[in-house]
Amino acid sequence: MPGFELWGEEERKHVNDVLETGILMRYGFDGPRKGIWKSKELEKAITETFNCKYAQLTSSGTAALTTAMAALGIGVGDEVIMPSFTFVASFEAVLSVGATPILVDIDNTLTLNPEAVKKAITTKTKCIMPVHMCGSMANLDALQTICKEHNLLLLEDACQSIGATYKGKYLGTIGNAGTFSFDFVKTITCAEGGAVLTNDEKVYTNCDGFTDHGHDHNGVDRGADLHPFLGYNFRISELHAAVGLAQINKLQNFLSIQRKNHAALKNILAQVPEVSFREIPDANGDSCTFLSWFLPSEKITTAFVEEMKQQGILAGNFYWYANNWHYIKQWHHLKEVKSLYNFNEEQKAALLKLQTQNFEQSDAIMKCCISTSISLLWTDEQIQEKGNKMVNAIKKALATN
Ligand SMILES: *Cc1c(COP(=O)(O)O)cnc(C)c1O
Repeated sequence: MPGFELWGEEERKHVNDVLETGILMRYGFDGPRKGIWKSKELEKAITETFNCKYAQLTSSGTAALTTAMAALGIGVGDEVIMPSFTFVASFEAVLSVGATPILVDIDNTLTLNPEAVKKAITTKTKCIMPVHMCGSMANLDALQTICKEHNLLLLEDACQSIGATYKGKYLGTIGNAGTFSFDFVKTITCAEGGAVLTNDEKVYTNCDGFTDHGHDHNGVDRGADLHPFLGYNFRISELHAAVGLAQINKLQNFLSIQRKNHAALKNILAQVPEVSFREIPDANGDSCTFLSWFLPSEKITTAFVEEMKQQGILAGNFYWYANNWHYIKQWHHLKEVKSLYNFNEEQKAALLKLQTQNFEQSDAIMKCCISTSISLLWTDEQIQEKGNKMVNAIKKALATN
């Protein structure tokens, strides 16, 4: 998963270009910056790498999601259908624009179950937001069909799946908009940063202004810019963009290492007949940041986790079901509306409803699911050793449960 594992001279060089001019801001200072425009360069690299028309950098992936919502006109009274398994940032962004998150069950793709989505549609539904978790994709054909039928927006949270594709198109470029995160543990990193990708010029123009206080960026003088709408400051800095520029140039290399290591580990685990794997709607498009797999029962899965813990080798294996940040079960702050400021009534009602909502189908999947993060640094011997240790722990859990 993480680009930080292969940090080096390339990042240093791009950062030094910025340090030499001292112009750390992405806008203005045209003379003193001496032709160094790292943010603009990175946006261009994103559009070229992922074959989309427009990209807007932001200060984080969360900011990218918030920006995308605003740019798509999602706000108070609008419902956004999203999965019960994601990182908290997905619902934070929905709430931040005053909209209402509607959480629904996942299926074996580890993201939105199209049937659950259909059932959740109301007259207030405005957007469907699949989250392409752990490097792989949602069933986008089914979700696009639902969007067309009900005239809904599709916003892809592709923060964890940079470089993954679905039927030949990059995740994040298929919906009305998509988002990436470049935080420190993502496939490529800027330290902190994110991007909104879109093929819609209007959505892009909205993103461009929204992330910079509403500036229309039409003038040569920032002070003379007009403000056609309200915005915020979700800008990325030139230092962060410089790191991202080095990283995006390494992306294809990262992906090929991930795919090789993922295949090797999967081969080892597949020798255990009781192990099954996540459903991948387009297996060729998996970015392979994680290998997500299932054991036959909750008891066996928790026994495996305990065994790995006891041996001190659990690191890199994520049991999301018990995790505080990625699954509805532990989102008590959300379900109890523990906000520092007042939410609108529709938001409050929807969140309180989560306390009694049935997530049996998601529970059944997540109880038995482990995601193993794939390192860029593993040697073939290390993969074999790691795989063997995992297989032994699995066999022990199976034998005793
Ligand atoms: C990381 C992540 C985000 C948020 O990105 P940040 O850059 O950390 O703000 C959003 N959604 C998902 C699914 C993520 O994994």
